[in-house]
Amino acid sequence: MKVVVQVKLMPDAGQALALERTLHAVNEAANWVSAVAFDHGLPHLYELRKHTYAELKSRGLGAQAAQHVIKKVRDAYTTLKANTRAGNLGKPGSHRRVKAEAKPIAFRPGAAQPYDDRCLSWQYDAGTVSVWTVEGRVKNVRFACSSGALKTLQEHRQGESDLVRRDGVFYLIATCEVPEAERYEPERFIGVDLGIAAIATTSTGYKAAGRGLNRHRRRQLELRRKLQKKRTKSAKRLLKKRSRSEKRHAANQNHIIAKTIVTEAERTSSGIALENLKGIRQRVRLRKPQRVTLHSWAFAQLADFIVYKAKRAGVPVVFVDPAYTSQQCCECGHVDDKNRVSQSVFLCRNCGVVAHADRNASRNIARKGEAVWTAGRESRVPATP
Ligand SMILES: [Zn+2]
Repeated sequence: MKVVVQVKLMPDAGQALALERTLHAVNEAANWVSAVAFDHGLPHLYELRKHTYAELKSRGLGAQAAQHVIKKVRDAYTTLKANTRAGNLGKPGSHRRVKAEAKPIAFRPGAAQPYDDRCLSWQYDAGTVSVWTVEGRVKNVRFACSSGALKTLQEHRQGESDLVRRDGVFYLIATCEVPEAERYEPERFIGVDLGIAAIATTSTGYKAAGRGLNRHRRRQLELRRKLQKKRTKSAKRLLKKRSRSEKRHAANQNHIIAKTIVTEAERTSSGIALENLKGIRQRVRLRKPQRVTLHSWAFAQLADFIVYKAKRAGVPVVFVDPAYTSQQCCECGHVDDKNRVSQSVFLCRNCGVVAHADRNASRNIARKGEAVWTAGRESRVPATP
């Protein structure tokens, strides 16, 4: 499976300047290639190369960099086309789609640039990279990452890495091809309930308060309000920058939550049962202020992280239908929408059990997960003649 490892570069002032000039140069070149591609009705890669390669070389890009720029532009159009076809930009004639198709794709000055092993080499033990720039090869650029990430890089890094600049910081994003762990037969299932007050509650008692996520949601709202007032470019830039850093923080939290859940599952030979996300949006019927604060991307991201980490660890994951998980009693199975007394309290009208609502739901999800797994296992066993 593909694993992406991101490392932060810590260049000295001179190195930073060379990296910055390089990203500016390649992205300026990409914008020019993009215009050529657009004017020529998006020719094939080899034609695009024919129209642009010599010019790029004369602009001082090396052979590899020129090739990468051309391919990056071509790939961007391929992605746009695929997105359009998949309907991600709306119906034909929609404002977003017309806007996207009306002009060449533009690349930001810090946009990602692919580097292959000829333009970038890693010195893992020293914690440095040597990288091609428009000002020649820059050596001994220090990088930082966790020891786990370093190990993954060292053992499995393959192919190209992207150099990118975000909010003044340079990152290298490397692709690693990591072998998948063999999936074990789970002894039980851990149910994960995704919610608002607590982002994730498991049937085994783990609760992730998700303070970071909720703060992120609040700030997103603030941001939108402020954006509507201030219309200057610099204000917008500043607010966007803050929003991006909040989003990164939220992603970081999701990583930690996912890791905690997957590690526990692995340690206890359990599988993980998650709610089908489409159902969540229907289930989480909220009072208005909360509805605004609900970011389904955060749930989707957390589910993605869990699936991805589980795959690496060989932990089975199943998705269950979330219908009634919040109304059903996990002790006696009685279903009643009055069972859910409030956002947090569950009180069974039949057997009188009192539980935390999230905990009750997570236990229902665990039970459903077990049923899904058993049904799947039975269908995997060939029928005896
Ligand atoms: Zn009950």
